[in-house]
Amino acid sequence: MLSVQVMGSGSANILQYRAKSAMVVRLYSDDDQSIALIDCGSKNLLSLRKDDFSKIRRIYITHTHLDHLNPVYFGWVLRKIKKASDNPKVKLFYPPEKERFLRLFIRACFLGRIPRFIEFLSDDEKNQLFFQSDEIKKIDEIQNTEVWACRAAHRTPTLCYAFKNPNLKITFPVDTIAGFPSIQKLGQNSCIFFHESTFPNKNKRWAQKSMHSTPSTAVIDALRSNSNHLALTHIADMRFGHRSLFKKTPKDIETTEEAILKQAAERLTLESIPFQTKESTKAILELKNHVRTILVVRDLDTFVFKNKRLLVRRKATNFRTRYIQY
Ligand SMILES: [Zn+2]
Repeated sequence: MLSVQVMGSGSANILQYRAKSAMVVRLYSDDDQSIALIDCGSKNLLSLRKDDFSKIRRIYITHTHLDHLNPVYFGWVLRKIKKASDNPKVKLFYPPEKERFLRLFIRACFLGRIPRFIEFLSDDEKNQLFFQSDEIKKIDEIQNTEVWACRAAHRTPTLCYAFKNPNLKITFPVDTIAGFPSIQKLGQNSCIFFHESTFPNKNKRWAQKSMHSTPSTAVIDALRSNSNHLALTHIADMRFGHRSLFKKTPKDIETTEEAILKQAAERLTLESIPFQTKESTKAILELKNHVRTILVVRDLDTFVFKNKRLLVRRKATNFRTRYIQY
């Protein structure tokens, strides 16, 4: 069993109801559980329990922009890991070009020292994390789950990660231009593709300039990689036609999500795939007898993968649950 909890679904913009990026991946085996974090940009990390911190073994950092690596939350997480067990150990993965920067961050959090429980990449591992443009590599293994990576196309060195075991593959491309061959390769046959979707379609040029995606371009990556489900995240809602940054009602949030799905659907129509919307926050595609979905992710959504079924829990709607076959 494996679960992914989205700790933040917003982009670098200031949004009242979407925190910045972080994911909690819980990996279970018969008698053990390990936790891996992807990025540390979200204030919601503060809601993790002591028990969770004692299980954190990895932090996979995609890049060092503040909405993904906030020194306050990162330092707080590291200190909590240290306190949570007698023998703490956490390994960091990151673009090797940024190691000096990372060490500076950590020194600032620990009064000038780098504590021993934090493990950095070895020289071999660092070399491995330089890629050809369309290359993907296995970089780690945790609880019988392989971790693969590739480079994203962003303004600073950025890694994308995918988790893969015999039953399941989940891909996390955050902060990237869509259509990058290595990301489509990394995401090949994913059960769920968490793709960034920062800007609306009408700001496509702006998205390209700032090296981000739109709903429409994220759909292309999901289709080209033959992924089953697409979860759009890293949203800058204010770009989707809303008047005020701070006065958001639940209705506004839904309207934004509908707009995002509609824009994703425009692309699907172009790709001549039948499309229908069954709920405001979910689009369902019938494709060769195979049901695919597109979801717009919200903070604290939890995706549980168990026995070939995906259960999505949404806190905002009183933990409404639904099952999707994958
Ligand atoms: Zn970002």
